[in-house]
Amino acid sequence: NQLAWAAEAANIAKSEFLANMSHEIRTPMNGVIGMTSLLLCTELSAEQLKYTEIIQDSGDSMLAIINHILDYSKIEAGKLDIEAIDFDLRITLDEVCNLVTIKAHEKDLEFVSMIHPEVPSLICGDPGRLRQILINLAGNAIKFTEKGEVAVRISLEDENTTHATIRFSVSDTGIGIPRDRINRLFQSFSQVDSSTTRKFGGTGLGLSISKQLAEMMGGQIGVESEEGKGSEFWFTAVFEKQVEGRDARVVIPDDVRGKRILIVEDNIINQKVALNILEKLGYNADVAANGREALEALAMIPYNIVLMDCQMPEMDGYEATREIRKPESKVLNHNVPVIALTAHAIKGDRGKCLQAGMNDYISKPVKPQELSEILEKWLAE
Ligand code: ADP
Repeated sequence: NQLAWAAEAANIAKSEFLANMSHEIRTPMNGVIGMTSLLLCTELSAEQLKYTEIIQDSGDSMLAIINHILDYSKIEAGKLDIEAIDFDLRITLDEVCNLVTIKAHEKDLEFVSMIHPEVPSLICGDPGRLRQILINLAGNAIKFTEKGEVAVRISLEDENTTHATIRFSVSDTGIGIPRDRINRLFQSFSQVDSSTTRKFGGTGLGLSISKQLAEMMGGQIGVESEEGKGSEFWFTAVFEKQVEGRDARVVIPDDVRGKRILIVEDNIINQKVALNILEKLGYNADVAANGREALEALAMIPYNIVLMDCQMPEMDGYEATREIRKPESKVLNHNVPVIALTAHAIKGDRGKCLQAGMNDYISKPVKPQELSEILEKWLAE
């Protein structure tokens, strides 16, 4: 009992010591880094500028090392928690890219980032830790590449109604890793060779932290590499999808392309189908459940296009379109293009739609390609 108590006390002391060290080291480091950036804004001779930039670089690396060591100790002590907060993956990727692009361009490397359209944006997880792994892998890729490119690619590995497994890949055209060294990479304090360490610096903790973080996010990490040609580091992570991330009735004023789309559809499943297809095409849209609601929405917001179901309770699509076209109705834009969506792919339907004042016609089930072409055509008008 006494031994257990002593071990427990030592553990508590260790955690407290780490917390204190973290604070104690970071405070003066912030002073050093902050003052150095102020100093860089003053007038300096060429020689002073050179020295000051070296202080800044050294300060940045030191802070990075301290952060690594602290993360590592936290993971060791089981004190590192993965958060579960709602975030937008595409925004997180943008933030990472902004940082990484600067570093890549400093070395004259190309930097490419791609996210597959199927990957959901609105997910729940730990964006901070995700960013940390990506920056870590991309930072290594840049560090170990002299010419060529570094690319970040994000794709969907697996998906069900509640969760998405997302795959992140960071590839480079750098020095690569010898086959017999690959196994040791994800172990703590391991570096491919000591001469490389001297040339490139680093703690050898980045990949081991990334591995632990990826595993805590329900994923895996791995690498494929050919010496002299380059490497691809990849990891997966499981994210919960946001619960109805976009409530059908929430009005999002501006979509990514600056165009406003109104879907008029009574069936909840079909609303979701249309919203999903539009989201994948890069559009945001609002939903109205019938003709009457559509008229109300159109009286408040000057939509650029309306996707109109034909058969609906209360007021159907034909009647709603006739109302939109009437100069005396309250809608803001009487000439808004109205595209009919109908389940009845009968020939006569087209005439009936056009007669009601609709501009074009798509039959259900809606195919993304077809919808995309129609939207581009009418939004360009
Ligand atoms: P470090 O702080 O040393 O970069 P990491 O754990 O991030 O620690 O990386 C461990 C070692 O793996 C590096 O020192 C390097 O030898 C090798 N390594 C990591 N990424 C790459 C890469 N993209 N290309 C070549 N070698 C790499």
